[in-house]
Amino acid sequence: MVRKSSKGKKKVHVDIFRDQTFETELLTCDRSPIFGRFLKAKSDIQKGTKILNEKCLIAGPKIFDKNAACIGCYSYLNSIHLKCTNCSWPLCNERCEQSKYHSELDCSFFVERKIKPPDSLKSIEYGAIAVLRTLLLKICRPKDWEKLLSLEHHNDDRKNLPLWNEDIVAEQIIREQWNLGDLFTADEIHTVCGIYEVNGFEMGAFNTIASIFPFCSLITHSCIPNSGHFENVSDETLEVVSLVNIDKNAPITMCYDWCLKGTDVRRRYLLKSKYFYCSCARCNDPFECNTNFSTILCNNPDCKNGSVVSTKCVGLANIDADWKCRKCSKIFKVTNVRAIVEKYEKIGETLGTVKDKENFLLKCKSIFHPSHFIPFAIKFSLCMAYGHDAGYTLHEMSQSDAHRKMELCQEVLKILDILSPGNILYELQAAEVLLSRNILESGRCPKTLMRKRLQNSLEKLDEAIIIFELSYPMRMLAESAKMSTRLELIHFIKALK
Ligand SMILES: [Zn+2]
Ligand SMILES: [Zn+2]
Ligand SMILES: [Zn+2]
Ligand SMILES: [Zn+2]
Repeated sequence: MVRKSSKGKKKVHVDIFRDQTFETELLTCDRSPIFGRFLKAKSDIQKGTKILNEKCLIAGPKIFDKNAACIGCYSYLNSIHLKCTNCSWPLCNERCEQSKYHSELDCSFFVERKIKPPDSLKSIEYGAIAVLRTLLLKICRPKDWEKLLSLEHHNDDRKNLPLWNEDIVAEQIIREQWNLGDLFTADEIHTVCGIYEVNGFEMGAFNTIASIFPFCSLITHSCIPNSGHFENVSDETLEVVSLVNIDKNAPITMCYDWCLKGTDVRRRYLLKSKYFYCSCARCNDPFECNTNFSTILCNNPDCKNGSVVSTKCVGLANIDADWKCRKCSKIFKVTNVRAIVEKYEKIGETLGTVKDKENFLLKCKSIFHPSHFIPFAIKFSLCMAYGHDAGYTLHEMSQSDAHRKMELCQEVLKILDILSPGNILYELQAAEVLLSRNILESGRCPKTLMRKRLQNSLEKLDEAIIIFELSYPMRMLAESAKMSTRLELIHFIKALK
């Protein structure tokens, strides 16, 4: 599993959108009668390759959010102490007045059409800003507007859903309150709202930024994706990286969201928010590609922990099909399965300490398969907690804690390697190094073997650093990993010579 360094590889720049077609050195656009347009590999792509680097088309404060946000960077405001000197909409600092979209699109428009900010810190007007800003593309950047309109909005489906009423609120604010009915039709407003709902990427540490990336939107969804996307808020780009080797002509896929939930939860979420019923290989397999991510355990006293999974998981018509024990054939209503999952998911979210989490895992043992997504989420958080939490820092951990961390990391890694290859490697190598140190101190292991073990850890660490460097929020971690952990490890290996 050694990831090749991406050093020396050509950076992929994309700003070609000729006649609605898309082409880069690595990718091309194709059309399927079922999914519409999608991106595919032009040749074999190695894992860890940056395959797309796209600049945001348009961004703004989160749609339909009532909280006051800075008009420049969209961070929430607790008080309004600074205002744009032109249009008087709120800012968090002076620099934000010069932010690209505000200064180029809406600032002078606000002044011209006398659109004043709301007086209160809570107003749905904040949630309509991104919609207005996007509509302004029609006037200010017709080419970008055309690009935007090539995206799906699913208005015909959305018309019958409760969310349509939120669109109507945006429509009233824009057409009536702001008096822009002469410029934008109700249809155009619904279309923009729909495009955000179906294609929007929520960026920023708290998902407070609504943004559109037209090329990235062409990437097909799969719950076992072959690519991952990483945002860079500072230069408003999205970077797509291959997580596995991708064959020539294979579609590029990514997981929109909720990759680490079970199929029933994931599918219902995708259906509700993205308007499609996922039929990927993972969704159509009751055992979720051998991960048992949804498998619960049979409660029949005569049946020892038989695996209970959905009886029919292909086709939308079977979304509420019964579940069944594969050992004793006992039938479980899907509503009961959902009730158990919801109950334990809620409890899981409230757990704070390592002890609480370990106790919860003991309770889960008789209810869920060990790699069901509920105990999995707790195990995932424990991988980090051992080595970071108070009382369990790398220096405070006992040898058995370190063993436990490694055991959990390996268990989690095994699943993540199938569902979302990547970022647990760093934690795993940290536990290995600690363990090696303890074993070395005890004198139970020859130096040559220890060197080999640590060399292996170094490879894992390097692989983790490459992945961290690709991901904006993890970049800091990559720096610290390089500066301290990596150097420490190299010293350690040298000392064993
Ligand atoms: Zn700001
Ligand atoms: Zn302004
Ligand atoms: Zn799926
Ligand atoms: Zn059973």
